[in-house]
Amino acid sequence: MQEKLEGIKQEALAALENIDNKSALEAWQVKYLGRSSALMDVFKSFGTLSKEEKPVVGKAANLVKVALEAASGEKENLMNQQHINQALAGEKIDVTLPGRRKVSGGLHPTTQTLREIYRVFGDMGFQIYRSREIETDHYNFQMLNFPPFHPARDMQDTFFVKSEQDRGDDPLMLRTHTSPGQIHAMQEHTGLYPDNPPPIRIILPGMCYRYEQITARSEIQFNQVEGLAIGKEITFGDLKGTLSNFARRMFGQDAKTRFRASHFPFTEPSAEMDVGCFLCNGEGCSVCKGAGWLEILGCGMVHPTVLINGGFDPEVYSGFAFGMGPERITMMRHHIEDIRYFWSNDLRFLEQF
Ligand SMILES: [Zn+2]
Repeated sequence: MQEKLEGIKQEALAALENIDNKSALEAWQVKYLGRSSALMDVFKSFGTLSKEEKPVVGKAANLVKVALEAASGEKENLMNQQHINQALAGEKIDVTLPGRRKVSGGLHPTTQTLREIYRVFGDMGFQIYRSREIETDHYNFQMLNFPPFHPARDMQDTFFVKSEQDRGDDPLMLRTHTSPGQIHAMQEHTGLYPDNPPPIRIILPGMCYRYEQITARSEIQFNQVEGLAIGKEITFGDLKGTLSNFARRMFGQDAKTRFRASHFPFTEPSAEMDVGCFLCNGEGCSVCKGAGWLEILGCGMVHPTVLINGGFDPEVYSGFAFGMGPERITMMRHHIEDIRYFWSNDLRFLEQF
């Protein structure tokens, strides 16, 4: 019996040597330690043994069982460790690989131009005034000297906004320019200081909307930056000085400017300001269409009717206003040929700035 037990042990241990995977180990456990294994048959045969044999064989059989269980446990640990080592070797971190670059956003080219404009006017004492994008006909047109049926309204067809009550001839609309903000700012100001309002120096940036055909030159949404200065004894000379200074700081110290007479309902007199083409130095190129000059902004002295609508007495106060398109300026600076790039969210375009 002792020999038989020894034979079982040797056979089992030899078989265990060649095992290299989990399922083979499980099969081995069933074969050598399971209910119908040769070792279990020895335990089952106890009844047939004599009193003297029983403890000796029992002890020997137990020793074999313990030895086989220990060997099987060891094998399992060994296989687990090999598995871990293999995984570690396969998934090793290669510290020589370049790191993954963090995606960092950038500022939209229009935002960059807007911030430059803020900086220049900020240095001259102008503050930023923001106002609503949905306006009433009253503020968008009437208070700015565009009465109903005024022909200048034809240039600014817009999107109307449905409202719950019938607003008659004062419908809600998406603003066509930032100019209604001028009236809001003036009224706020004269409301706070009705007797002796201090001077106003503001710029009004924001999105405007017009119902237009979308082409390379025009979009249904675009930014405007408008400026307003109101005080006592402000003259056209102040307007020219401020805007020429702006042009030099924005386009270079050598930037030339010229003013051409123009017409806007809310300023009188009105002008367009051109800057000497900074791409060809006035020699004529495709951007300035050979003229040597680029039209940058519209401006003028605030119309007396607009001053009255804002709560200022035109006999005492005067002021100037101007407005420009940051997309247009960005297009000229970077030779961008099509305004539609600005809102098409194409990273190939946006990543260039
Ligand atoms: Zn040019």
